[in-house]
Amino acid sequence: MNQGSLIVLSGFSGAGKSTVINQVLAQRPEIYFSISFTTRAPREGEVNGVNYHFVTKEEFEARIEKGEFLEYAQYNGNYYGTSMAVLREKMAQGIDVILDIEVQGAALVREKMPESISGFIVPPSFQHLEGRLRGRGTDDEETIQKRLAIARVEAKEVPKYDYIILNDAVENAVAQVFAILDAARCRTQGRMDLLEDFKGE
Ligand code: 5GP
Repeated sequence: MNQGSLIVLSGFSGAGKSTVINQVLAQRPEIYFSISFTTRAPREGEVNGVNYHFVTKEEFEARIEKGEFLEYAQYNGNYYGTSMAVLREKMAQGIDVILDIEVQGAALVREKMPESISGFIVPPSFQHLEGRLRGRGTDDEETIQKRLAIARVEAKEVPKYDYIILNDAVENAVAQVFAILDAARCRTQGRMDLLEDFKGE
């Protein structure tokens, strides 16, 4: 059986990445979303084991020691990491896996798993992002400025990604993610079994 693909998705905070990923998973429930470990506190409505595995700093560091993570990074004062075991198991079963991780983690995955595919979700413009952050009404001015400053730094990493996904409307962004996954399935390396019968002398 062919291996499942690993697709790494990143995006600016406020660019609508979670909405896009939730739609992708709703429309293709056969895709596995890798649930990360984090030391940050759960937000309202978040469920342990569904959105994240919420753990203490001590537990996270013990897992680092044991070498459990494919990658981990510190973001906004908290640890975030991808556990390796489940991810490999799913891929071996031919299941496509999505990671929602930030830029440092994505760089590590690209290094360790060069066969993975990466996409960065962008809004139509910087002004658009600013407007969205203000429109949410959840952050004060200082937090908004901090997020915009992080976005400017993260933008420098985008050229390292295989694809840029333009989120001008959720359905368009979702269609682009599907196009990327479908193209990955057509890669020659994973389809050589189709040529078995053509082998002559
Ligand atoms: P949030 O706290 O808003 O859920 O996530 C903050 C950032 O951490 C997002 O950019 C998200 O993509 C990233 N993130 C979530 N899980 C992981 C992970 O396992 N590894 C890394 N490197 N980043 C992660």
